[in-house]
Amino acid sequence: MMRQARRALLLGGTGDALKIARQLGPGHVYSLAGLGKVPDDLRCTVRVGGFGGSDGMARYIEAERIGLVIDATHPYAAQISANAVHASRAARVPCWALRREGWQPQAADDWRMVGDWAELSGALAPFAKPLFTLGREPLAHLDEIPPHQFWTVRCLDHEEGNSRARILAARGPFTLEGERALFRAEAFDVVVSKNSGGSATEAKLEVARELGLPVVMLRRPVLPDVDREFAQVSEVLQALGEFSQA
Ligand code: NAP
Repeated sequence: MMRQARRALLLGGTGDALKIARQLGPGHVYSLAGLGKVPDDLRCTVRVGGFGGSDGMARYIEAERIGLVIDATHPYAAQISANAVHASRAARVPCWALRREGWQPQAADDWRMVGDWAELSGALAPFAKPLFTLGREPLAHLDEIPPHQFWTVRCLDHEEGNSRARILAARGPFTLEGERALFRAEAFDVVVSKNSGGSATEAKLEVARELGLPVVMLRRPVLPDVDREFAQVSEVLQALGEFSQA
């Protein structure tokens, strides 16, 4: 009997996921939500858009004869990570995850940890010029900006700001020199961040450290247990090589 190729479904939307996707041969599937750039130079199949919840993903896994789900989504994309675990259990295939380590505060760093938007806006109350670097969520709060604050919101969206907010549409990676120039020009007094980890967006923390600025840090969501967890792209690729040959 001819052995069936073992197909992986890679859930992405991060730079690390794209590094894995670049190594996947035809037969494997790279899945994106469709918010960012869709690569057109991969050898694997690229699919775009939601599955319709975990039931939809389970149906997809079965219909496409997927043998392994790899969650390489962003550490704050908690819904798709939960869906991946539920769907792979329902479809009886293993679920792996790439969970890169978060950044750690250094000795003189002033990190103020918050769990949600209400805590975040409370922590920002003493400040006048925050730089938001946690995606599009602040865009929903532009009409709540206190009179003593002017916000800079850096995200992927090209949107109009208002008299109290400037939207800076930009995509990482960000360099140390670039961040230094931005902080110098805008005189931010606090940085708002997710603890994304990795090097692509870390320079802002170094500049905050240099300038002695506090960082309001949104805590990571708790993600579900998976069958195998990896911290590095190279570890995933090695395990995937072994899986494909098994
Ligand atoms: P989320 O809240 O966990 O997911 C919302 C819904 O989007 C999911 O239920 C799923 O829809 C769909 N989805 C998300 N990732 C998908 C994927 N790789 N393939 C197919 N469908 C996907 O996610 P989010 O925080 O909005 O982030 C969306 C995407 O952007 C993620 O893929 C993530 O890796 C990337 N991203 C997120 C952040 C962040 O800070 N959250 C930062 C950088 C990149 P259905 O339920 O219909 O299947």
